Amino acid sequence: MSHPIDAEELLARFCRYVRLDTRSDPHSPSCPSTPGQWDLLRLLEQELKEIGAADIRLNADGYLLATLPATAAKAGVPRVAWFAHVDTATELPGGAKPIVHRKYDGKPITLPDDPGQQFTLETIPHLREKIGQDIVTASGRTLLGADDKAGVAVVMTTAHHLLRHPEIPHGVIRLGFNPDEEIARGMTRLDLKDLGADVGYTLDGEGLATIDYETFSADAALLEIQGVSIHPGWAKGVMVNAVRLAGSFLSALPAEISPERTAGRDGFIHPVEITGNADRCAVRMILRDFELAGLAAKRAAVEQVVASLRIVEPRAVFTLTFTEQYRNMRYWLEKDMRPVEFAREAVQRAGLTPMSSAIRGGTDGSNLTARGLPCPNLFCGTREAHSPREWVCVQDMVKSAETLLHLAQLWHEKA
Ligand SMILES: [Zn+2]
Repeated sequence: MSHPIDAEELLARFCRYVRLDTRSDPHSPSCPSTPGQWDLLRLLEQELKEIGAADIRLNADGYLLATLPATAAKAGVPRVAWFAHVDTATELPGGAKPIVHRKYDGKPITLPDDPGQQFTLETIPHLREKIGQDIVTASGRTLLGADDKAGVAVVMTTAHHLLRHPEIPHGVIRLGFNPDEEIARGMTRLDLKDLGADVGYTLDGEGLATIDYETFSADAALLEIQGVSIHPGWAKGVMVNAVRLAGSFLSALPAEISPERTAGRDGFIHPVEITGNADRCAVRMILRDFELAGLAAKRAAVEQVVASLRIVEPRAVFTLTFTEQYRNMRYWLEKDMRPVEFAREAVQRAGLTPMSSAIRGGTDGSNLTARGLPCPNLFCGTREAHSPREWVCVQDMVKSAETLLHLAQLWHEKA
């Protein structure tokens, strides 16, 4: 590459972004769900102005969009969007104090604010491959927030690089920074007309050289049980206890199709929350499968358990509701694999071997792909996301930025 990506700029951006606490909150009805996300969105808005991006707009729902204008006159070049989410996972506090371990020497790392958190070559996968490279960890007690501030830093640094090098030919590139990916609301309020892109990529993938284009298909299920209440002193023959019925329901669910007993391409039924009392109970579940037929079978399995309970206890009222959450993006992408094929070629041009696997979750791209914007997910270097031992390798983030640079040129070149 004639002009290398500025690794120090990338690292400085990353450290600046992870210091802000942008943890999202599933119990908040607002969008973004937490005020901390505005701090990063406003910082990015300011930085986009500084690097000279066009059409910068931060809307009332916390979506920050901007444009890198085309540098070549070629007609018919698809408009490509790059996305990264500004929120961090709900499990741990944000606001990291990042520690940069330059030229990592392979010795164990102890996080100073939580000495129980140890990194060793034996316990942390992929750490051995990074000896001699630069890695970043948190200091303990917070997330690092590399998911997805590595993606944010990669998008910003690559955008700056392209704006400084107008001799690199590419079409229109749209940049999108969105809130609340971690609570599955990441793209719900993004207006695709506003965005005006033909293809998109989320920079939210783990590790190095990965391209995700297969995700779970996902439904939520809610079982509401209305029992019959009466004073327990004279309840005989009258009371119908919703708590006991919820227990019967849970024990009748097939235990072998649970997340704790499945891996690879097998889906599951996962009860995630139970609330209520003897009068009334609610059981919330998530259903996952890579195939729609498998997802339908899981709905049927839940329905069957409920049907048998209705026979056992006809005095209770069972209400079962299913809600579609997202669908495997492969269903749309396999009709036109160019977004994936160009990404593979871009990874190869960055000197890596592209890897793909079916991911046991969804991405912001799941929602966008189903709405008509094909959107695979690209690696940005993150490791052990959602854990206090989250870390990232600077050289992997640079490779992610190089991949984006090649991708920008490929869509132009192949048009
Ligand atoms: Zn993420």
